[in-house]
Amino acid sequence: MEAGELMSKQIVAIDGPAGSGKSSVSKQLARDFDFGYLDTGAAYRALAWLVLEGFDKAQLETGDFETSFDYQVSTDPDNFWVKVGNQDVTEAIRSSEVSEAVSSVAQVSAVRSFMKRKTHEIAGSCTKPGIVIEGRDITTVVYPEAQSRILLTASEEVRLARRSKELSEVKNIHAQVTKRDASDSKVVNFTEAAPGVTLVDSTNLDFAQTVAVMADHVKTDLKAAQND
Ligand code: C5P
Repeated sequence: MEAGELMSKQIVAIDGPAGSGKSSVSKQLARDFDFGYLDTGAAYRALAWLVLEGFDKAQLETGDFETSFDYQVSTDPDNFWVKVGNQDVTEAIRSSEVSEAVSSVAQVSAVRSFMKRKTHEIAGSCTKPGIVIEGRDITTVVYPEAQSRILLTASEEVRLARRSKELSEVKNIHAQVTKRDASDSKVVNFTEAAPGVTLVDSTNLDFAQTVAVMADHVKTDLKAAQND
């Protein structure tokens, strides 16, 4: 995205750990503000999926994956899809194999800088006046200049409960989520709010309450940015 475009587009940056509810909350905010929605984790997952399909992992380090990784994602919160080349991988990237593999892909610095450029490119081509972008490093690395920046957290217990659909899954989910968070936090800090980033703790809030609190922050931030 060009600097001029960035100034005119409203960027709402939302970070948080696994299970914080940031995807569903971000989608709802995008609907409420009639903004686009961008899930940046989907791109890391799609690249991890490609590696599991046999793509040479060594090419991640050298940046040689860039031409082979034809990544496309929708920015419509009501019609979300992810494609690699002609293949729709919307469902495939949610598998537990991908969830297990994604952190190691996300630790590669050539991957992270590609993802930053890709996020700017996708946000720049979104035709809505604004876009809600969620991930782990959006408030700090990808869009530190965003008009609105929020870190959404919740207690570990609540995050795990939200991630587990059935009680029998709790143990597996627990191991997977805590391992992934620990691994992810080696390269990005998404547990503490950076200066200027609003912290929203949703431990004791239901979905509607979380969206309402976040929407209030976004409104205040966007208004303040207009008056700057
Ligand atoms: O958000 P989601 O759980 O789908 O993200 C999948 C993974 O992608 C994370 O566990 C992390 O390894 C990586 N990620 C990242 N930076 C982002 C978004 C996701 O490193 N901005």
